[in-house]
Amino acid sequence: MFDFLSTTLNGCQSDQQSGETKQLVWQWLEEGVLLLEPKISSTKTSSNSGRLDKELDSVLLSAGVHGNETAPIEILNSIINDLICGDLDLRVRLLVMLGNINAMKSGERYLELDLNRLFSGQHTKFPDCAETQRAKQLEEVVRTFFEQASHGCRFHFDMHTAIRESHHQRFALLPYKESKIGKTQGIYSRIMFDWLSSAGIEAMVVNQAPSGTFSYFSSHYCFADSCTLELGKAKPFGKNDLSQFERINRGVRSMIRHGMASDHKEADTSDVKVYQVTQQLTKLTESFELNFSDSVKNFTSFQCGEILAQDGDITYQVEQPEEWVLFPNAKVRPGLRAGLMLVQIDQARLFE
Ligand SMILES: [Zn+2]
Repeated sequence: MFDFLSTTLNGCQSDQQSGETKQLVWQWLEEGVLLLEPKISSTKTSSNSGRLDKELDSVLLSAGVHGNETAPIEILNSIINDLICGDLDLRVRLLVMLGNINAMKSGERYLELDLNRLFSGQHTKFPDCAETQRAKQLEEVVRTFFEQASHGCRFHFDMHTAIRESHHQRFALLPYKESKIGKTQGIYSRIMFDWLSSAGIEAMVVNQAPSGTFSYFSSHYCFADSCTLELGKAKPFGKNDLSQFERINRGVRSMIRHGMASDHKEADTSDVKVYQVTQQLTKLTESFELNFSDSVKNFTSFQCGEILAQDGDITYQVEQPEEWVLFPNAKVRPGLRAGLMLVQIDQARLFE
């Protein structure tokens, strides 16, 4: 029996490159990349059999872009195995990717370069290595997948887990969107927002600048509604308490079975917090120091005037009445982001 994860980790090309069930056809496109498409409804004429329903949503699910973030990989694998053995119906065009396979094998976040900084052509700016090649390869497969979707909506969920404790266990990072009419912020998908809420996402963070992340690539270059999902804490393979991931597991399965727009219209979204990046703490020199403990949780709040970090003559302090910290890390290389500061905004701002 084909198992997506073990086939990927064993490093050999699958001897079974494709297959089908009553409902779907699947194809191994590249190492760790699987395309699954529903067969056309049996009520259509036989001459159409095997052709795709062009109204279907196209959904990309990725995990393992950071190789040690195992729980989403395990969840995705169990979903794929259920689809392939016919236990789960498919109502979307589905592309599934395991990102940094070499890092997954060694249980590391990455080997030479952080794959999630290499998309949107950033891979061309670094010396050639396995990770720059993988970014280029994934970009090509994703472009082709979305180009073949002539109708229907496009979505991408890039699933991660965080290292740090967090006041919000599960949250989404929405890539920066440039508005066509010159406003600073574009419009996000209400369908995606409702689905994320129903899948237990407690907060969403709007980025304010382009980046090398996978979700920015699919959003900006493939016009998908995309986000990076942080789904809890990372543990080694087999050590995860998958019950913590039950809502996202159920949400993904429901979306696969019914499509994105159904099944969660009644989701109560009133508790979902929305943040926007207000400043970045950039480590310029080796003398950069955070002014708070290493163990501070994500979404810890600071009040106006509090000192956040010191970097030689430069002082970072809270400028808004209240700011929340995300991903603080003083150990990055000089020139890189050592943390983000957020402000809360109204949900409605996402859709203006
Ligand atoms: Zn990650």
